[in-house]
Amino acid sequence: MTAMVKAEGVHKSYGPVQVLKGIDLEVAPREVFCLIGPSGSGKSTFLRCINHLEKINGGRLYVDGELVGYRQQGNKLYELKDREVAAQRRDIGMVFQRFNLFPHMTAVENVMEAPVQVKRETKSVARERALRLLDRVGLADKAGNYPSQLSGGQQQRVAIARALAMEPKLMLFDEPTSALDPELVGDVLDVMRSLAEEGMTMIVVTHEMGFAREVGDSLVFMDNGVVVEAGNPRDILTNPQHERTKSFLSKVL
Ligand code: ADP
Ligand code: MG
Repeated sequence: MTAMVKAEGVHKSYGPVQVLKGIDLEVAPREVFCLIGPSGSGKSTFLRCINHLEKINGGRLYVDGELVGYRQQGNKLYELKDREVAAQRRDIGMVFQRFNLFPHMTAVENVMEAPVQVKRETKSVARERALRLLDRVGLADKAGNYPSQLSGGQQQRVAIARALAMEPKLMLFDEPTSALDPELVGDVLDVMRSLAEEGMTMIVVTHEMGFAREVGDSLVFMDNGVVVEAGNPRDILTNPQHERTKSFLSKVL
């Protein structure tokens, strides 16, 4: 079976600063893959490389069997054209810590925007799907609200619906609940849990260890640009093998 994401020795530097120092990992289709680690360890950078927001400097990164951003011919790599990059990005949904909704658009308009603009869908088809997705994230009654009229948790659920509107094969979550008031976290995690149950492949950067333990199929602990420990979330959270993992977990659990 083709991995949904495969990283082989992935390196990323900003000038002289090495941020990713050879990441190897594999995410299977339908897997919920949790990524934890201290601030600055390179988690966001890794997600951004998968989603073409950053270019890697070394190694290989594949999504669903395709090299991210490149085509290989023989042993030569050719950069993909903008149109080809756009096609790869279309299949990946990303949800950030900050929801980044368009403030001048209602919830349903936010969810419709990409299918209409990028896929040239008709507004009626896009609206129908958007309403269905808002219902799915528990916001059927908020379709006409502007972001400023929604709580942070509701805005984040609109952001999830917006990512799902492009019918992605992979969803990336970068600390989706970190900016939320504690009482709003549960609703967002519930939506992510139901997505997982429906078989969505997800990479989730999170500090929610309960979510990682209950929903995660795999857990990776990253520190300082390397994978320190990887395996079953229950095993790692109850019985970490490395000092750095132990020390990190003692601070967050
Ligand atoms: P994490 O998400 O694990 O907190 P990041 O991937 O955001 O970590 O950052 C990893 C390191 O890369 C940090 O030291 C950060 O300062 C650095 N970094 C991230 N983005 C840039 C950038 N655009 N330019 C320079 N350094 C960056
Ligand atoms: Mg980050």
